Amino acid sequence: MADQLIRAVAADGGIRVVGAITTRLVEEARTRHKLSYVATAALGRTLTAGALLVSNMKREDSRINIQIQGDGPLGGLLVDARLDGSIRGYVSDPSVELPPNPQGKLDVGRAVGRNGYLYVVRDSGLGYPYSSTVELVSGEIGEDLTQYLATSEQTPSALVLGVFVDQNGVEAAGGLLLQILPKAATDDLLISTLESRLASLTGFTPMLRAKKTLPQIFEDLVGDMGLEIFPESQLLRFHCPCDGNRMLSALKLLGEDELQDMINKREPAEAICHFCGDKYEAECDRLTDLLTELKMENANRA
Ligand SMILES: [Zn+2]
Repeated sequence: MADQLIRAVAADGGIRVVGAITTRLVEEARTRHKLSYVATAALGRTLTAGALLVSNMKREDSRINIQIQGDGPLGGLLVDARLDGSIRGYVSDPSVELPPNPQGKLDVGRAVGRNGYLYVVRDSGLGYPYSSTVELVSGEIGEDLTQYLATSEQTPSALVLGVFVDQNGVEAAGGLLLQILPKAATDDLLISTLESRLASLTGFTPMLRAKKTLPQIFEDLVGDMGLEIFPESQLLRFHCPCDGNRMLSALKLLGEDELQDMINKREPAEAICHFCGDKYEAECDRLTDLLTELKMENANRA
């Protein structure tokens, strides 16, 4: 199945279900950033969460940023997800590898760190981004974001995120977000049934690896609760809108002396986009142009 996101409701609109398959985009992140196994799992879960969380925003240019800053060796993670399905992100140290945790899984919690913060910024394109911060629960990302949804958005939610990666790359990645909306929030039987079904899930990637589609996964989970799957699916992709000219303009921050020095030594300079790893190179001619621009800007400022 191609990378995509599908939405559904159940229980007369009392349960919101969103599912995403992100195998290719997580694989692209892995190769672009040369991610270790545990970094692939950590960033892959966060990229998938970005796609799921942005999906309930309304305006076309809506976006969400998820930043995780824990005390583990990975350093920070940052993901930028847009409602049109383009998602990008990076980790501070992509090369960190750790032994598996006692359950035999990639130890994302230790790599991210259990102490630290999760910051979420929702921007609905109207110029007033809404940001909130919660303390990390476990560094496993799914639990941390569930905590954010419960406290900051006050929506009881369950988030299941999974990435299966081996020496051949990412074989399966995706996730599921279930939210109880206010009209069902007092239905204790519904909530306990849902909780026990979620508890019986052993993860998301086993279902994908068993070749289940998103509609089949939804059916298994809430098929008997009046499931209505929306017909439109949203394609998802790793995409970074960085622009070479703008990236190279940042070289002006080096200052006139440094630029002049590089031109004298005929050293080309490069700027690398953190989000996607693309490299932009400025030859001496370009550096000379930048220096001229910078001198004019500085003269105008004086
Ligand atoms: Zn980029």
